Amino acid sequence: MSIRPQMPHDSSGSFDLIVRGRRVITPEGERAAAIHIHGEVIAAVSEYDEIPAGCEQYEAGDLVVMSGLVDTHVHINEPGRTEWEGFTTATRAAAAGGVTTLVEMPLNGIPATTSVVGFQEKLRATVGKLFVDVGFWGGVVPGNTEQLAPLWEAGCFGFKCFLVDSGVPEFPRVTEADLRKGFVELAKLGAPLLAHAELPGPIEDAGKRRPANVDQRSYKTWLNSRPRAAENEAIALLLRLGAEYGVHIHIVHLSSADAISQIQQAKQNRARVSFETCPHYLTFAAEEIPDGATQFKCAPPIRERENRERLWAALGDGTIDMIATDHSPCPPAMKQQASGDFLNAWGGIASLQLSLPAVWTEARPRGYSLRHIANWMCEAPARLAGLEKKKGAIAIGYDADLVIWNPDAAFRVDPAHLHHRHKLTPYAGRDLKGIVETTFLRGQKVFERGEFFPSPAGRLLLRGQA
Ligand SMILES: [Zn+2]
Repeated sequence: MSIRPQMPHDSSGSFDLIVRGRRVITPEGERAAAIHIHGEVIAAVSEYDEIPAGCEQYEAGDLVVMSGLVDTHVHINEPGRTEWEGFTTATRAAAAGGVTTLVEMPLNGIPATTSVVGFQEKLRATVGKLFVDVGFWGGVVPGNTEQLAPLWEAGCFGFKCFLVDSGVPEFPRVTEADLRKGFVELAKLGAPLLAHAELPGPIEDAGKRRPANVDQRSYKTWLNSRPRAAENEAIALLLRLGAEYGVHIHIVHLSSADAISQIQQAKQNRARVSFETCPHYLTFAAEEIPDGATQFKCAPPIRERENRERLWAALGDGTIDMIATDHSPCPPAMKQQASGDFLNAWGGIASLQLSLPAVWTEARPRGYSLRHIANWMCEAPARLAGLEKKKGAIAIGYDADLVIWNPDAAFRVDPAHLHHRHKLTPYAGRDLKGIVETTFLRGQKVFERGEFFPSPAGRLLLRGQA
């Protein structure tokens, strides 16, 4: 590793801010360094002591200085279901959690982002509300093939589809026939397809096997209703179609560890594929979820301990590329907490503000380093969104997005301190390691120890302009 300072040749020394610390996570590794920020970007990364006189400084000392997190899987639901979650609350939660870039999913808002008209409405709904930078995925639904090119031109980073019922009527699932139509277009555009990979067949079969008097408060009832086969078969179909049409397939929220061998096979064949899992699949285990605790419900479901450990191993060897939250809150009443009915509760886990400590708490005892975290939660997701030259790394020319955090400090999750709209979360009361102290967005401090400032400084990220 070169230890020469990466100073621009024509450096006039006119930096607006220096952020320095003993534990800066750069693409090459962890080291003591000074980050020289000019305007909104990183202009140089030098040795810790190599700083110009008279420049404003932020001294991180022994805290970790890492690129701001990039979360490519966030449901914000505004406009249309703003009572579930909105841009202000979600992006404040992001800033407090050290997430400086998020990419919003095309469903749960109304209209869905499946047409340019819908996308424009979405963009209008963001005005004055963004505390971090926000980009967008478009949607592939039956019959909207002709909208894909205009959505791509309008700035979506790629497209999301569901192979199983999405839970909302304005975002219907696609069949193989629908997918084939969409794939022709996606191949022309060179756009990635993100897929909720569960097939209805195995889920319907599981439903038929379910006894009429089943205990709907039992977590096992929910787990059995979404078998691994639904994921495994959907992934097989998507990998096959992706290879046939030459489309980059990204599998969101991978839960079934039984799919890992076919993922490895696809990667060995150099297919354009990537895979994401979520903090909750890496943290919780089905065996530990109490009856009626519907805050743990999501789809695909949190599976057994043994499954969780195989997901960790697949992250470690690079089979799974990244971690994103699938942050998806809803009004608490929809979680059916009173009845604890897993089959009728809304599925979705809210964790945008907690992803860094949640993952770190589980990663460290398994021997993973801060470099792994930066790869899984900053660099790989930035690459998926096509932002790999601008976001997700501490290097010259990148946006000066930084999270400064204490990896050794512990806290107990108090829902009152969460900034997203509805505080119900399976992390409530859990002891986590890793406290975010300060978040910088493009060189500007946007969060520090519970305080946000100044007014919303986030920006829209649009493909082509990004
Ligand atoms: Zn999702």
